[in-house]
Amino acid sequence: MEESLEIFNQITQDLLKDEKTNPVARHIPSAELYETLDLGLNEDPMEDAAFSESLKELVFSTPRTSTNAFFNQLFGGRNGKAILGDLLAVIMNNSMYTYKAAGPMVGVEKTILRKVCDMIGWDHNADGTFATGGSMTNFMSMLMARDAFNDKIRKEGLAQKLTVYTSEESHYSIPKNAAFSGIGRENVRYVPTDKFGKLIPAELESQIKADIANGYHPVLVNATAGTTVLGAFDPIKPLAKICKEYNVWLHVDGAYCGSVLFSKKYKHLIDGIEEVDSFSFNAHKMLGTPLTCSIIVAKNKKYLHDSFSNDASYLYQTDHDDFNLGKTSLQCGRRNDALKFWTLWKSVGTKGLETMVDHQFNLADVALDYIVDNDDYKVYSYPDSISICFNYKDIPARNICTALYESSELLVGYGSFDGEEFIRLVTINVQNGPEDILQFFKQMETFVSEHEDQLNRLTNA
Ligand SMILES: *Cc1c(COP(=O)(O)O)cnc(C)c1O
Repeated sequence: MEESLEIFNQITQDLLKDEKTNPVARHIPSAELYETLDLGLNEDPMEDAAFSESLKELVFSTPRTSTNAFFNQLFGGRNGKAILGDLLAVIMNNSMYTYKAAGPMVGVEKTILRKVCDMIGWDHNADGTFATGGSMTNFMSMLMARDAFNDKIRKEGLAQKLTVYTSEESHYSIPKNAAFSGIGRENVRYVPTDKFGKLIPAELESQIKADIANGYHPVLVNATAGTTVLGAFDPIKPLAKICKEYNVWLHVDGAYCGSVLFSKKYKHLIDGIEEVDSFSFNAHKMLGTPLTCSIIVAKNKKYLHDSFSNDASYLYQTDHDDFNLGKTSLQCGRRNDALKFWTLWKSVGTKGLETMVDHQFNLADVALDYIVDNDDYKVYSYPDSISICFNYKDIPARNICTALYESSELLVGYGSFDGEEFIRLVTINVQNGPEDILQFFKQMETFVSEHEDQLNRLTNA
């Protein structure tokens, strides 16, 4: 073990140093991957030195998602305290299903969940759990909605036509989960959004009415706090009213931006959150913990228990259900995703988490201010979003993004809304300052000016 830790320290130190001058790893075309790196597995063991060298090369060739040149996805940066927690979780290697196997780590997880429920304004009937990501916490919400509608489904299977509602801009895990849950992809209703990408409540209500008239049973409305492309927030309060009237479960998918819960200034974006049935958010997105750290909380913990508990006498042998977290989780063996969030929260305090969230919106303002005043840019995004969407000099977004990637310059992605495709710059890395955002634009502009011919050729191709 000591030897492996030494290798770990050496590679990590070298990587952190190299990232300062080379924030983007050299791009390896996928077609050349197996010829470029030594990935093969052999019959014979490897010499220690060669092993370390090979491992280092692999690490150095891997996309550098934590640097100031990565804007491609909804995560980024590195928080030392959160990483410390995650490294310790790996060393200890507990499984979170029972108090017998996880001990105080159960308390770590429960403390986070309690605190989140308190911040929402929920009493001791509320509880939650961690799952492997936002797709899976969304899945849990769908299962609870299904079982809350009819608790016989768990035993007998589906015999009724159920429908779920989500906006056209919502995450693709919703139709995936509809397939997993037996509800069926075709029974997902995509509710239109307004020009800001927010779900239109009146459209939801008329769709629900039409479905009921046609013999369907609406079971779930999925609202999004931070849509994947525009970063839009669906209006929770009017949705809660409709859900109450038709007795439908309301879940808020806050995987991307649900962490505004931690900010006094931006919490209004999820106004009405206390009225929903369940809420999920990814601490590995806005709060910058390592992947993955996804939390779901339910206003009434009975539903968590009803949908996810199963007796298992070989597992649950001591302590009360409240301390045996396997009774409310999707998985059986479950890694300790709570500790990294706890080490972060413990070290910076709730105020520190608030500062992180606010900083991301400040960076978004810096980006937006820069492009709205510049005639070369066309802006597609709106305030109160940390996704800055734009086009530059009318060059197709995908051409710029792909060329930047293939030239190992910057990692940024593109998205589309309302028939327009654009670059999406995500200001989620809290280690970045305004200068990093301005540097992004400068670097992209220089790149475009040096490659304008090529970028336009790509357009015509
Ligand atoms: C990222 C995201 C998800 C999925 O979360 P994973 O942890 O990647 O599974 C779901 N919904 C929204 C809105 C997201 O941004």
